[in-house]
Amino acid sequence: MAKLDQRRINFVKSLPIDVRAQVIYRFLKEGISNRKIEQLIGALNEEDGWQAWSVIHFYGFDGNSKAKYPTLTLKKIKDSLLNVNVEELEEFYLTNSDETEIASKIVFTENDGKDVLRTIKARQGQYKLRRALLQNYQSQCAMCNINDPKLLITSHIKTWSASSVDERVNPSNSILLCKLHDGLFEYGYISLTDDYEVLYSRDFDFEGQEISKDITLTKPISDYPSSVFLREHRLKHGYE
Ligand SMILES: [Zn+2]
Repeated sequence: MAKLDQRRINFVKSLPIDVRAQVIYRFLKEGISNRKIEQLIGALNEEDGWQAWSVIHFYGFDGNSKAKYPTLTLKKIKDSLLNVNVEELEEFYLTNSDETEIASKIVFTENDGKDVLRTIKARQGQYKLRRALLQNYQSQCAMCNINDPKLLITSHIKTWSASSVDERVNPSNSILLCKLHDGLFEYGYISLTDDYEVLYSRDFDFEGQEISKDITLTKPISDYPSSVFLREHRLKHGYE
């Protein structure tokens, strides 16, 4: 799938809120294709569907939401969109390489308008969490020296799927890690004590993979990883 770049974001921002609401309404309620939406809405040019796609994607929806909201009203959508901080969403897309991963993790539970706002809020929550972690860890992996933002992830201690809505955006349930250390932590090849000593699994061949077992966790400025979540991580992966 294409990426929401600055050009597409600028296009979405240039549209009146009514037009944005109509696009989302047609998609979520009626399940109309992007191209067809462009034909139906006068403010859009009939192109290859990218205009409608940009609006839908900007607000955090994808094919999973198509035609899933039969009772939705245009007013509900518009009210939801008016609650969105567009600048925050914009920065989220321009600084986060994992947007598609996040989008696919949103679980839809209700077919009414509440989910629309919840979806957008979830995305904004992710953005705020990432911003907090980048600040707390000074934009560097807590386990190595990698500091390229595209390689840095808000790694959840208690997994996203197991976490409550609040736990998902709790900075103490996250550590800023690079993609490698996020993977090692996610699979339990490494874990942490309550004193932030790094534990290494016997099930993983660190030497063979040439991955250091001499990691010192760089502690955050604030929002230290919670001992409750760390204990859960150790239990889940057989460290205690
Ligand atoms: Zn790292």
